[in-house]
Amino acid sequence: MRHSEVLQAAGFTQADLTGGSLPVRSPIDGAVVAQVAETLAADMPGIIAKSKEAFKAWRVVPAPRRGELVRLLGEELRAAKDALGAVVTLEAGKITSEGLGEVQEMIDICDFAVGQSRQLYGLTIASERPGHRMMETWHPMGPCGVITAFNFPVAVWSWNTCLALICGDPVIWKPSEKTPLTAMTCMKILDRALERFGDAPEGLVQLVVGGPEIGEALVNSTDVPILSATGSTRMGGIVGPKVAARWGRPILELGGNNGMIVAPSADLDMAIRAIVFSAVGTAGQRCTTLRRLIVHNSIKDELVAKLVPAYASLPIGDPRSDGTLIGPLIDQATADRMQAMLDQAASEGGTVHGGGAANGVGDGAYVNPAIVEMPAQTETVKTETFAPILYVMGYDEFDEAIELHNGVPQGLSSCIFTLNMREAEAFLTAAGSDCGIANVNIGPSGAEIGGAFGGEKETGGGRESGSDAWKGYMRRQTNTINYSSELPLAQGVKFDI
Ligand code: NAD
Repeated sequence: MRHSEVLQAAGFTQADLTGGSLPVRSPIDGAVVAQVAETLAADMPGIIAKSKEAFKAWRVVPAPRRGELVRLLGEELRAAKDALGAVVTLEAGKITSEGLGEVQEMIDICDFAVGQSRQLYGLTIASERPGHRMMETWHPMGPCGVITAFNFPVAVWSWNTCLALICGDPVIWKPSEKTPLTAMTCMKILDRALERFGDAPEGLVQLVVGGPEIGEALVNSTDVPILSATGSTRMGGIVGPKVAARWGRPILELGGNNGMIVAPSADLDMAIRAIVFSAVGTAGQRCTTLRRLIVHNSIKDELVAKLVPAYASLPIGDPRSDGTLIGPLIDQATADRMQAMLDQAASEGGTVHGGGAANGVGDGAYVNPAIVEMPAQTETVKTETFAPILYVMGYDEFDEAIELHNGVPQGLSSCIFTLNMREAEAFLTAAGSDCGIANVNIGPSGAEIGGAFGGEKETGGGRESGSDAWKGYMRRQTNTINYSSELPLAQGVKFDI
């Protein structure tokens, strides 16, 4: 399908796509596919005020009824899966199955959140005082700002929004300025769910379009108690302290520099499949992309000798075509940065296999993925470059592998390939991987929504999606109820009057 047909199938009108100040390019061929309207900074106070009003109504809707809206959103997403997946491919450059996979992830979190809407459980707690009962109650927080990155342009919004909605919080979404069309498509889909739902307050979920200055209005507003921000550690380093300084609650999902340890006992065929998917899938533009391979020296040469030809045979090209496994980078600036980092790694003693522009593919920023054998974990290796570069380093002792693995500023995802039970278990202990996600015999990429997603250190510490991540969108209240006719004080304190 041509770009215009994809956008038409997603419900866009000419008026949606023209006349605005923000150009939208497709990484497939660099074509400008739309000029969309940007939100004015002057409009942000009104948008936030509307969200506050919506909160007053939404917080008292019973949570299972709030879940009904998310159930309807899941139904509408199922119906629109192909159309939305195609817009993800058009605007983010993901291959077709990954574009569809991202929408499936949205459907999955809808299902999860619907169930969760009946399980916003608090504890009951034994009181030390006779005739007293203690419990905790979870309450909605207020408007939730959601700032998202270009590389998961729709799934991350749904992780936040589905949970925020069942928890009673309105949402204001600022997507990446590189991917406003996927966001606009989501809002059209949500509008259909809202129409069927019937009586949701106006302004329950609002979209604002623009760059960092629009995001900053959410970051700085005391009327936005929760601010979820996904993107680079550079962005998180600005946003996190600002939200903290105004006593807001930040949920930070920032950059990763994910490693895999390959031990001598590893099933190398399995490891190679996991390495290639994790390192080059989404053209290396996942926060969980495999960027560092820490391989036992006894098998390092053999592994590299197998990986280099496997890389060279990967189909690179138009992400819409059957068989393509590597689509374009988001833009030429990213390809330039990849090349600069490869040059820097070479100057630090690295041996580079691959890299450079992919020939004969088209007008987008198509690159050959690269493997770089490094003599040490240099500053270049410690930096997340959002492109398909895989650094390979050797180790002799298991402890050395763990030290190398944890010796980077980021702490998102990690894994080990081993058939040695002691190593596998050690990797998951307090002295093992320091990441938010740690896997055994699968790659670091491609998480399921059932687990809490996020990482430590410069990855920001936030958790979204499954497990008890919903608690990040609510405030906990501890309640003590006295059903006796006495007024005893805790800890035996006497204060008789
Ligand atoms: P980016 O940091 O350039 O932008 C992310 C978002 O932040 C955009 O919407 C942008 O407009 C906004 N932003 C930037 N500066 C801001 C400011 N000062 N105030 C408010 N908003 C601001 O990131 P990107 O290039 O879109 O995405 C790639 C990065 O995102 C990578 O580092 C990747 O690892 C990370 N990422 C992390 C996760 C995760 O869950 N940990 C998921 C996806 C992407």
